[in-house]
Amino acid sequence: MVRDALVEEIRERAEIVELLGEFTSLKRSGRTWRGPCPLHGGEGPNFSVDPARGLFKCFVCGEGGDVFAFFMKHLGLDFPSAVRHVATRSGIEVPEDREVREDPWGPLREVVAFAEEWFRDRLHDESEGRAARRYLAERGFEDEEIERFGLGWAPDQWRALREAAKARGIDDEPLLETGLLATSESAEEPYDRFRGRLIFPIHDLRDRAIAFGGRILKSDADGIPKYINSPESPIFHKGRTLYGLGWARHEIRRKDASLLCEGYMDVMALHRGGFRTAVAPLGTSLTHEQAELLGRYGRKVFLLYDSDAAGLKATFRAGDTLLAAGVHPMVVSLPAGEDPDSLLQQTGPEALGELLDDAVDVLERKLQILERQGYLESIEGRRRAVDGLLSTLRSVKDPALRDLYLGRAAERTGVRRDTLVSEVAREQAREAVPRSWRHSGETESGAQGRDPDPMQTFGSEADVAAERGLLLLILRDPTLVERSMERGLDASHFREPGYRSIYVALQAAGPERDSGLLASALGGSDAELLERLVDDSTELMHPGDVYDGALRRLLNRDQLDRLRQIDRELELADEEQARSLLVEKAGIAKLLREAGVSLSFVRNLARPGTQTVR
Ligand SMILES: [Zn+2]
Repeated sequence: MVRDALVEEIRERAEIVELLGEFTSLKRSGRTWRGPCPLHGGEGPNFSVDPARGLFKCFVCGEGGDVFAFFMKHLGLDFPSAVRHVATRSGIEVPEDREVREDPWGPLREVVAFAEEWFRDRLHDESEGRAARRYLAERGFEDEEIERFGLGWAPDQWRALREAAKARGIDDEPLLETGLLATSESAEEPYDRFRGRLIFPIHDLRDRAIAFGGRILKSDADGIPKYINSPESPIFHKGRTLYGLGWARHEIRRKDASLLCEGYMDVMALHRGGFRTAVAPLGTSLTHEQAELLGRYGRKVFLLYDSDAAGLKATFRAGDTLLAAGVHPMVVSLPAGEDPDSLLQQTGPEALGELLDDAVDVLERKLQILERQGYLESIEGRRRAVDGLLSTLRSVKDPALRDLYLGRAAERTGVRRDTLVSEVAREQAREAVPRSWRHSGETESGAQGRDPDPMQTFGSEADVAAERGLLLLILRDPTLVERSMERGLDASHFREPGYRSIYVALQAAGPERDSGLLASALGGSDAELLERLVDDSTELMHPGDVYDGALRRLLNRDQLDRLRQIDRELELADEEQARSLLVEKAGIAKLLREAGVSLSFVRNLARPGTQTVR
């Protein structure tokens, strides 16, 4: 498959007009180039080269194919030699020891091509495809577009495709391998994966179908996913494929920019509206490979995601991925509740064109949001704002852009540039926590503690460990429930929802509890969490000390949080601010020490006056 990818890359990067133009004189004629055929030695302009599709064709002798086929036919090379020849001419190095083979997946491709045609025929069938055609007409699709996007219809039957394939002599195996058939324990025979769905073929860069997306048509289809895709297969790698890139890439190259949107419908709507650089990832967030692929065609990407909170989060995540691939992301702000499809239907292409003109750089967009939410007004806010910017600043690969970003972030947040530089470089050290107390993905909030989103609450692994440890001890020693309650521990001191529920249940059950009853009172994931705690056999050397330490920690958590926060604010503070922060810090530390809380984890805890201000 690595070989296959290399061959694809060579084919993709070869300038077919230039390479073939050495053997005949080609002149531009619309989208293609025409000249006399060097293969049969013709004189009229019957030999056509299509750079967009990477193909040639002679209308007299009928020869045709891709750039490799030309050299095989014209120079009599075998496939590996043709590939090496084209690679050399295109400035791509092929390691000597690397075996170059022809596509080993031909049979699978044929099966997918058969299915594509069969789905298309179902859509155009007078009675079978009626509902689907009506749906497409309602969404504004013209026949020409249905044809261009290769849309089809999968009938709502269990084995229609399988039967049709069988009649063509295609057995189950390649259909299973390409995910067109599925199996399940309750079904005796494999069945069609796509049923009652509108079909969007997914093409590779050579315009060959490699997979399908399917959208359900029934509006009463409860509990069934609206969209499904073909699974990964030897010819389909979701994370390396972008929907629409085959149609869009030449325009992307011309404009040096692409439009990244969320789904099939958006891509089709955008192309229909004249925005021919639109592509979409396939139902997942943008991968690094997809970002690199896009970057090969254009250095700028306009992100056209929904403007709700989830869309914004996806936008910034994609932005970081693009920056890491050396691509420059711009954010387009769609009106609330609109997607490209709905926007184009309601207000037409001009309105979207204006939004594209107003697109802002991804860092600028973050700064706008932070400013609008008031983060840049106080030192606490600025600290969190810087946290929100760090992932973007860390991702930028392009040195010139990084320089620009650091300057801009410093200017807008008022934080010194060299402070930002060291923040970007710093790997936040994890707080030291007893290993056995680390929760292993059993609670939902961020133990990683470094979510770049300033709107997220900021959690500490040590605190989660304290909650967990305390519950472990209470579960082992039933008398500790009452003692904890007497010392003022109530449910609100637990911030992890699962741990809080367990403590509530323990309080209600009292000292004479039954863990079976406790589990059934909790139910669901909380019961599973309880089970894991009960099963935890970690030996504690001094359970009494551990209990006291954890209890104090939870009881004094607000102050502990403030201490940690002060440390972080100190990094951005000027001299005067630093002085008052240090006074506040010393005061809190004194109270905590008096309450018997261990402060060994707090950084830079010195008396005011001896602290050096950076
Ligand atoms: Zn010819």
